[in-house]
Amino acid sequence: MKKIITACLAALLVLTLFGCGAGASYEDRTIYGMDTYITLRLSDDSVSDAYVDEVADGCAAIIAKNEKLMSSHDEDAVIYGFNHGADVVENPDSSLVSVLRTAKNLAELTDGAFSPTLGALTELWNVTGGGPVQKDEDVKKALEHVDLSSLTVADEKLSKTDREVKIDLGGIAKGYTAQEILEYLVKTDVKYGAVSMGGNVGVFGEKPDGTPFKIGVTDPRNREDVVGYLSVDNGFVAVSGDYERYFEENGKRYHHIIDPATGAPADSGLASAAVWANSGSAADALSTALFVMGEEKALELYRSGRIRFEAILITTDGKVTVTDGIGEDFELTSDDYVMKNQEAEN
Ligand code: AMP
Ligand code: MG
Repeated sequence: MKKIITACLAALLVLTLFGCGAGASYEDRTIYGMDTYITLRLSDDSVSDAYVDEVADGCAAIIAKNEKLMSSHDEDAVIYGFNHGADVVENPDSSLVSVLRTAKNLAELTDGAFSPTLGALTELWNVTGGGPVQKDEDVKKALEHVDLSSLTVADEKLSKTDREVKIDLGGIAKGYTAQEILEYLVKTDVKYGAVSMGGNVGVFGEKPDGTPFKIGVTDPRNREDVVGYLSVDNGFVAVSGDYERYFEENGKRYHHIIDPATGAPADSGLASAAVWANSGSAADALSTALFVMGEEKALELYRSGRIRFEAILITTDGKVTVTDGIGEDFELTSDDYVMKNQEAEN
């Protein structure tokens, strides 16, 4: 993550993009899709506003296409149908096959911390709908239908052996879509810019003044603020945290990231996990997985080299750990947090 480009992005919860370096000039466009606001920040160097509009329309079409494929609550979506009765999908769209294959792969690499078949659990907990807290026996029943091995993904067909297994791509679909958008953007005449959608940022191109893109990492205990800024020159950054969606009961927070080992909201000591990776789907799925795993296991996965990523891990007691490849590229700006001494850890 060394080299350089420019633009100042703030990955606040809804990834607000703000400010920019000298010499850079942008047009911003906002699109609503996949339950979130998506911001495009596109260089207008040598392209007209009308051209930027056309490119934004191209991005909106990608978002709409993937929403109709990957949503588990839009009744017209392919995954919704697969979860509710249609146990087979013949000739699935190539994007759907691709995101499911990547999801399966990341589930294996994270020993199931990322679990795209936990739809029965997310439906049960209904965090977005405000709960309530679930009984252990109901959680246990739902857990019986969280089973990656039930799912077969092939170019010509999706199928499952357990009819009650439900797919939930909420932890990967936005990152995957951000990646498709970037693949499209680099083929246009727009020279550099960024897309941000629901906790995922992707950057592309090279800015005239050569400075990096700066991405603000949301303060998990004050969403209006940032813990600090991460400078990147390429790739994707995704953030998962216990502050994004949750309900409270008897003073306890029940958030939307489920630990597939227990079937309950993950309680790993992390308040948020930000991940850089060179693919959008990997960044998105890994941020969810590392949040579930907690600091120690997340750093173990990092050191194993099984998959290339970098991470910023923020604990519920205000300590920030960054992986070696990030080093000085993360600048802590909040007085409420301290950097953990990595030497002492190792
Ligand atoms: P993110 O905000 O990217 O961490 O994704 C969270 C969303 O992913 C949740 O709202 C669920 O739809 C889904 N999800 C929750 N827990 C997991 C998990 N352990 N593995 C995969 N997806 C999950
Ligand atoms: Mg995710």
